[in-house]
Amino acid sequence: MLTYKQALQQVVATIKPLPPVELPLTAANGLVLSAPLAARWDMPRWDNSAMDGFAFAAASAVVAAGLKIVGRSFAGHPFGDRLRSGEAIQITTGAPLPPGADTVVPVEDTIVEGEQLLLQTTIRKGQHVRYRGEEYRAGEELLAQGVRLTAGGVGLLAGAGIEQVRVFPRPRVAIFSTGDELVELGQQPGPGQIVNSNLQYLVARLHECDCIPVPLGIGEDHCDDLDRILDRTGETDLLLTTGGVSVGEKDLVKQTLLRRGFEQKFWKVAIKPGKPVLFGTLDGKPCFGLPGNPAATAATFELFVRPALSLLAGAGDSGSTRRIARLSNAVKIAGSRQLLLWCRCSWTDDGYRVEVPRRQDSGQARSIQGANALLPVPIGSSTLPAGAEVEIILLRLPCAQAAHRP
Ligand code: AMP
Ligand code: MG
Repeated sequence: MLTYKQALQQVVATIKPLPPVELPLTAANGLVLSAPLAARWDMPRWDNSAMDGFAFAAASAVVAAGLKIVGRSFAGHPFGDRLRSGEAIQITTGAPLPPGADTVVPVEDTIVEGEQLLLQTTIRKGQHVRYRGEEYRAGEELLAQGVRLTAGGVGLLAGAGIEQVRVFPRPRVAIFSTGDELVELGQQPGPGQIVNSNLQYLVARLHECDCIPVPLGIGEDHCDDLDRILDRTGETDLLLTTGGVSVGEKDLVKQTLLRRGFEQKFWKVAIKPGKPVLFGTLDGKPCFGLPGNPAATAATFELFVRPALSLLAGAGDSGSTRRIARLSNAVKIAGSRQLLLWCRCSWTDDGYRVEVPRRQDSGQARSIQGANALLPVPIGSSTLPAGAEVEIILLRLPCAQAAHRP
């Protein structure tokens, strides 16, 4: 059986980024750039004032002699003329410096008497001037290919006149759950029935991962019904199913997929929970069969699907979600498969600390709620003592812990 790392390598080797698309700048926030972006113009676009005050030529300014105020340059309303020796204009922050001016004195350092400007301090040529192109030049690369766009990037690019950007799109993910025992949320479960909570979980988690979920409902445990849903996966980039991938008589997902030309890359990984996880491609698109136990669905999503989504979105295999943390409590381990534990990570003065709740049954949705990290316990460990350093997979950044209850 493959180890977790070997299986993950298969995912990484199989998945390529989606074809790039062009989007309006703000619509692309959160996405990864597929091409570098260069400035359309110099920034600042002209020499301008860094202060509210007066602008003039330093060579013509003599303390106590005064300068003649001949006009003003306000932000959005430049002074239309050239300044001559002995002249000054009133100027506001960001307003263009007119030709002939090279220096700004802050208003606090002046006295105005009628049209006369009296300087109260000595000045240095060029003081309080922001020069054209000081921040960047036209044609200069502002953001490299592979950078994830954030609000800061949106602001930078907008200032440089960039309206459209080429990015890897948000992956569209077809999801359906399988199981004769399932009813949709909103229906009252009858005898032997349970609510299809996995679908709701995955939709919520896909939104958190900046993907577009395309929920396709519940497939019954027979091949015809699974085929009916598989016919509806349409314009999606990745397929997720839950349940029906184990060795039971009614576990028909793999068989149905294979009949449709599924190229299997792996089935079964030495992990607990989540052992029967299935991965391959269908019509060239990645396809995961996740086991149905809610904690197994959630764990295999984090281990394999999340890196796959990250690869599709051009962001690499999300190695950046791994962190080194110290265990707050000791963890006892049994069995030969790699154990995956839901845990609570917090940021302390001493780095990341991680607390592992004792109850971790693979059917328990409660262990996932409240968890913000997953701990893949190293194979061969028996007990991990409190204080041990472990590698965790962060699901989301730690926030205030007040909401956690045992
Ligand atoms: P399976 O992987 O189909 O053998 O299902 C394993 C266990 O997970 C069973 O107890 C199922 O009832 C439960 N289960 C399967 N699918 C779902 C689902 N969509 N939502 C909640 N529980 C499920
Ligand atoms: Mg089932």
